[in-house]
Amino acid sequence: MQVPAYVEYEKATSVAHALALLARFGPEARILAGGHSLIPMMKLRLAQPETLIDINALTELSYLTVTGQELRIGAMTRHAQLLDSAEAARHFAILHDAEQVIADPVVRNWGTVGGSLCQADPSEDLSAAFAALKATMVIAHPEGTRTVPARDFHTGPYETVVAPGEILTEIRVPIRPGGGSAYEKVGRRAGDWPVGAVGSALWLEGGGPDGGGLDGGGPDGGIIADAGIGLTAVGAPHFSAAEAEEFLRGAPATEESFARAGELAAASCRPVSDQRGPADYKRHLARELTVRSLRRALLRAGQRAGQPSAG
Ligand SMILES: Cc1cc2nc3c(=O)[nH]c(=O)nc-3n(C[C@H](O)[C@H](O)[C@H](O)COP(=O)(O)OP(=O)(O)OC[C@H]3O[C@@H](n4cnc5c(N)ncnc54)[C@H](O)[C@@H]3O)c2cc1C
Repeated sequence: MQVPAYVEYEKATSVAHALALLARFGPEARILAGGHSLIPMMKLRLAQPETLIDINALTELSYLTVTGQELRIGAMTRHAQLLDSAEAARHFAILHDAEQVIADPVVRNWGTVGGSLCQADPSEDLSAAFAALKATMVIAHPEGTRTVPARDFHTGPYETVVAPGEILTEIRVPIRPGGGSAYEKVGRRAGDWPVGAVGSALWLEGGGPDGGGLDGGGPDGGIIADAGIGLTAVGAPHFSAAEAEEFLRGAPATEESFARAGELAAASCRPVSDQRGPADYKRHLARELTVRSLRRALLRAGQRAGQPSAG
């Protein structure tokens, strides 16, 4: 039987209280959100915090709201809440795609968006999705808050910029016109961590493609104003493919452009062989899933053409 080491337990009643508890118990204290990553790590003695600060009572961190031109997601929002949010799916289909394939209903009912990002597992699905969407993370500390781009949030496997004494409180996703997004994942079985996964977001000049399709004889897909590509489990720096995005900016939204972006994305990854698959297969997935997610993002941008937000 796996049993965690002895640990003190404190229940926070507000963000301010949680910050005060973190300050009081020092760097060996850890936030407990859904516990789906932390508790198994404690059982395996991979993590041995001296104090757990439980933030499950902080309903103030559990919300999905559209404020102006932003979707705001509280850090304690459960995976299931994000999956069920019609508003989030309407603006960013990539989030709905990703949540559909994260774990199983039991994990999704309790695991949180903030916990997933702070766990910083190199195979974490939402890290790729938020990298593609160019989201911003809000971090609370005793003097106030600071914001960090999603791509600067992770400093390495299982490491983030959230310092001891700080709490991730919110994820902000900008809503821009002419957008479409999609997430493509390959896992060994349903509900498993990815062997490789890619999320893409496209924003088209003039609000969308004129015919909603790809080229190669078909209608014009339009010109790409901006692109976001997030990859996970394949050793992508900052969970993203900056060179491929740069190539797509100003390019026509065509099969040829997407194929080149897939090549660039795969070339920028450093996958490692492990129990989930060999490195060359993961690199193949990085290329192929980039193309597929871009294709689907474009179709969604076309479906949403003329509407004021991403799809
Ligand atoms: C069987 C199983 C399958 C899974 N499959 C997948 C999958 O396919 N894809 C995927 O992406 N994930 C998967 N997960 C992970 C799942 O998404 C977890 O919910 C997630 O890893 C952690 O979220 P949590 O709320 O449980 O965090 P916790 O376990 O409570 O915390 C994780 C870490 O983050 C810290 N932390 C939590 N919240 C905050 C905060 N607000 N501020 C600062 N620090 C914080 C904690 O101190 C801890 O170090 C799986 C998990 C399980 C158990």
